[in-house]
Amino acid sequence: MKIVLLKAALATCLSIIASLAICWFVLSMAGSEMDWFPVIMSALCPLLIAFPASTYTFYQNHRIALAHAQLEAAHKELADVHGDLAIAARTDGMTGLLNRSSFIADLDEIGQRGTGGVLLVIDADDFKAINDTHGHLIGDRALCSIASVIRDAVGDTGIAARIGGEEFGVFVEAASLDDGLALAEKVRLGVEQLVFRPTWNEITALSVSVGVAFAETKADFSSLMAVADDQLYRAKRSGRNRICAPQLRGSGGRLRAAIG
Ligand code: GH3
Ligand code: MG
Ligand code: MG
Repeated sequence: MKIVLLKAALATCLSIIASLAICWFVLSMAGSEMDWFPVIMSALCPLLIAFPASTYTFYQNHRIALAHAQLEAAHKELADVHGDLAIAARTDGMTGLLNRSSFIADLDEIGQRGTGGVLLVIDADDFKAINDTHGHLIGDRALCSIASVIRDAVGDTGIAARIGGEEFGVFVEAASLDDGLALAEKVRLGVEQLVFRPTWNEITALSVSVGVAFAETKADFSSLMAVADDQLYRAKRSGRNRICAPQLRGSGGRLRAAIG
């Protein structure tokens, strides 16, 4: 408000100066002298008119500027919330990985670009037993630990998602099958080496089985998923805590055994 009054006072002073100048000019043209009456009238009129009028105008300008700043702040806040919502809509609330639908959408997009890659379907082994023994909250914590291993292993080389209850998906674009197998082993070993404590004096072993599918070009979620699911089923049947891929058929062993 102080600044509004200051601006109005300045505008009034300028109006008085202009009014005096005009009055002096008109009187000189008319051959008259500036005496006290025209001086007072030239100062009084702007004072009575310009001061309230400019105070009102500057006050309105000030309010508009304030409203504009508030609108801009609200707009920025809305954009931030929108960004957060977009991230939340893509994310699995419990593990922080992508959710199933965004994983499929991302994979479809990759497929449309014509690129191939490796899909890993990772399923926690005997997870029902963990829930039955320790309860669902501890089960949730175990799932988060497994998700952390997956997140660390994948880093920014690919995308990782929770695609079902205790099932995760990883896709690495343009990766070779060997790269995919190495990543699968990193995840499997990482989970095997987790020191998971359901309670402070207890350690429970965790493990995952991994089904691998590979597409040289045009990754297609449905067909890759069908292959990876088959391989996962094979890994489960052959004892769990292992990796199976179509090219490893017959080995039925863990990757390190299959490679070695
Ligand atoms: P398998 O090795 O054959 O995969 O055995 P499993 O016990 O892991 O598989 P099953 O399909 O029999 O059971 C899956 C279990 O995972 C049962 C379900 O309660 C649990 N589960 C699924 N989602 C969640 C979750 O969000 N939190 C918890 N705590 N458990 C979950
Ligand atoms: Mg399971
Ligand atoms: Mg499962």
